[in-house]
Amino acid sequence: MQHASFLGQGRIRIDSSNGPEPVAGEVVLRVSACALCGSDLRPLRQGWPTTPGHEIVGVVDSPGHRLTGRRCLVYIPVHCGRCECCRAGDTHMCETMTQLMGWQRPGGYAEAVAVPEQCLIPVPDDIPTELAPLLLDTIGTAGHGVRLARRIVAGGPALVMGAGPIGLGAIMVLRRLGFGTIHVVEPQAHRREFAASFGAVPVEAAALPQRYPVVVEATGKDAARQAALEAVKPRGAVIQLGESDAWAISETRRIRLKDFYYIRSFYFPLNEFDDNVAMLRADLAEYRRFVDARVPLAGLETLFAEFAAGRRIKPQLSLGT
Ligand SMILES: [Zn+2]
Ligand SMILES: [Zn+2]
Repeated sequence: MQHASFLGQGRIRIDSSNGPEPVAGEVVLRVSACALCGSDLRPLRQGWPTTPGHEIVGVVDSPGHRLTGRRCLVYIPVHCGRCECCRAGDTHMCETMTQLMGWQRPGGYAEAVAVPEQCLIPVPDDIPTELAPLLLDTIGTAGHGVRLARRIVAGGPALVMGAGPIGLGAIMVLRRLGFGTIHVVEPQAHRREFAASFGAVPVEAAALPQRYPVVVEATGKDAARQAALEAVKPRGAVIQLGESDAWAISETRRIRLKDFYYIRSFYFPLNEFDDNVAMLRADLAEYRRFVDARVPLAGLETLFAEFAAGRRIKPQLSLGT
């Protein structure tokens, strides 16, 4: 089979290998699509020992397995199902987890991948294959963060820092869950206009018009995190999603002299999947616009360059299986 090797400095080479060799408890998944993620830019720049790609949908190809022939998504955390967190339904916080799909073990920028059975999520028949990966990081991660914030804040205006895929997902979820005006800070014009087309109102970080009961920080950058901590209203919630750089926050008076809640979340629990499917169904036509390019393996390097430059929203490797 063919798979992508991330060599660093933006270079991707397509190599051949014998294909995945699943061990007991794993299946072979023929990859249909794998969506690009902002966190992949780290392996893209640094190089990576295994094939990245963690927003995977494909078809199970392990003869005799109960899910053979079924379309499945891949849940990233390789969780145990037995620890206290897993038993409580918090599969994304498994205490014994040592591997994430597409990070510590091979991922989806390949024709096939070995997947632990517990990470297979069957895709409902009415969900188009190319939209299924949106159920993971874009809707899943953003949805979980906003649900956590709703325990603290019922609604009202919200601020979203960063209109990459997770920030855009947060805008869609906030809108769907009935939050009021959604302001967005995004320096990159294409993404800013895309966010505006879903009803978000672009604002400047240096001149925010108000403070907010909910602030979603989806850039991972210190400057945005600093602005988010300052912009949250007393008793409001800041939600930090996605990957982040090292922290360097100055505790200004605007941060120090108020009570507020800080929520950090990196992924969603499996038991929220059905709610996420419902959100995708409810806004399906708009989510279709997220998937703005689909390329074969040979086009992956060029597509990543466009994605890194902010010219693509949520493009994907598409293998048509
Ligand atoms: Zn991702
Ligand atoms: Zn566990």
